[in-house]
Amino acid sequence: MNRRDFFMTSAAIGAGAALASVGKVSAIDMATVAENVKKAKLRFACYWGGLFPAENDADRIKKMRELGFEGIELSGDGGGVKDKKQMFIDEGFEVCSLCFGSVGGAVVSEDPSRRQGGIDALKRALENAAYFGAKAVVYVPAFNGQTKLGHVEIRKILMDTLPALGEFAVECGTHITLEPLNRTEAWFLRQVADGAQIARDCKTEGVATMGDFYHMAWEEPSDMGAFISGGDRIKHVHLGNGPQPPRRTLPGEDDRPFADGFLGLKFIGYDGFCSFECGVAAPDKFEAVRRSIAYCRSEWEKATF
Ligand code: MG
Repeated sequence: MNRRDFFMTSAAIGAGAALASVGKVSAIDMATVAENVKKAKLRFACYWGGLFPAENDADRIKKMRELGFEGIELSGDGGGVKDKKQMFIDEGFEVCSLCFGSVGGAVVSEDPSRRQGGIDALKRALENAAYFGAKAVVYVPAFNGQTKLGHVEIRKILMDTLPALGEFAVECGTHITLEPLNRTEAWFLRQVADGAQIARDCKTEGVATMGDFYHMAWEEPSDMGAFISGGDRIKHVHLGNGPQPPRRTLPGEDDRPFADGFLGLKFIGYDGFCSFECGVAAPDKFEAVRRSIAYCRSEWEKATF
């Protein structure tokens, strides 16, 4: 065990002991953690149509398979590509998530007349998630400038709104997955723990959260700690480098480490998808993604107790 492994192991065991001692998440003990580590998987997804060029759908599918992708993330509410569902199934891919966004911050707008439209749009996305079998509808309450309300008011609206929407998500077999962003994009909801607590306060399994390594590089003092805080509320992960130029590139294209966060994902037994949500710095994008996947796999292996 080298010095880095020693510290990572010590930190993980310490975190486990701390969690058990405060009784906050009583289901977690070290035996559970050991089971979680066995259960955890690194499964890759990416935006349909993104990351690297392809001549057509068949070429994209072929390249995604060659690279080892298993999942597909759809943009918006996914309604524009409903006709591709059977192709995704036939080719063995799982639609893991809809990157829904914020609907202009409508749900938490200072103008109450806008909120119902946002709720309706979110419900349509949840129905589309049910159609595709996607487990996560990635939702941002508001980007900066999309609402004039403050944090206390936004949180109250979410508490008034999300529990019922969360129950609707349960019926749809999916999750409203709150995405914490960095402060340049949203001051409200920047940390994974905050997303997890909002989800827990909603008292429905239909509200969840996620971690995006890009945003986490800005906002989280510990990637591992963030995912442990999220616990079983983590239903999705986005991969991308941090803010240093060229920002938000592929994992491995700069020196942003991933093993620490992956250790957190192992700790909680995460076996959902890690979806690339980033640009590509290298000119040959396809080969760059291949290298990045190899890098992520090596970071996953490095994340040991
Ligand atoms: Mg993201």
